[in-house]
Amino acid sequence: LEAKEEFRHKTLATDVMQPRRGDPLLSVLTESRMTVEEVERLIADTTYSGFPVVISQQSPRLVGFVLRRDLVISLGEKNARRNQEGVVSMSPILFTECDPPMSPSAPPAVKLRSILDLSPFTVTVHTPMEIVVDIFRKLGLRQCLVIQNGRLLGIITKKDILKHMAQMANRDPDSILFN
Ligand code: ADP
Repeated sequence: LEAKEEFRHKTLATDVMQPRRGDPLLSVLTESRMTVEEVERLIADTTYSGFPVVISQQSPRLVGFVLRRDLVISLGEKNARRNQEGVVSMSPILFTECDPPMSPSAPPAVKLRSILDLSPFTVTVHTPMEIVVDIFRKLGLRQCLVIQNGRLLGIITKKDILKHMAQMANRDPDSILFN
């Protein structure tokens, strides 16, 4: 009976991560295929504190994580990178180490690798929330990314965890999992 009880309470990262099934997809940036205009639109259309950076939409392998705050500063009107000679809204934004091949007539790129966190914390969809909560506490994380077979699937923020804990406590005040 005890083992069963434990199983009933075992929430996994996949149960808490966003987006939920049917919700809009995770808002990501790609490492070299987006323009200044596209990134500015994403910033304007969302309120997320950060964005995972992936290789491409077709190949959602995680490259890093960028904070909205740092993006906003880097693309701000007064910023040197944004104001480089020739940078226009069609300029590509690059998070890559090396520049991809570009046509000579293409506008100059805005290079933003320096604001990228190259090792954001990740867990898999199967990681028990008990462990995720423990890691958040011990490492003082604000968010972590959720991966399955190398593909980025979701994100868990500190607030998501707090909400989840509140729900669990409501449903089952005796649950010891999140004490
Ligand atoms: P907080 O959880 O502190 O409000 P955010 O504003 O970053 O932080 O996130 C709001 C909600 O959106 C959370 O439920 C989070 O899991 C989710 N979220 C965060 N970043 C993204 C993203 N890039 N794409 C989709 N959902 C996200």
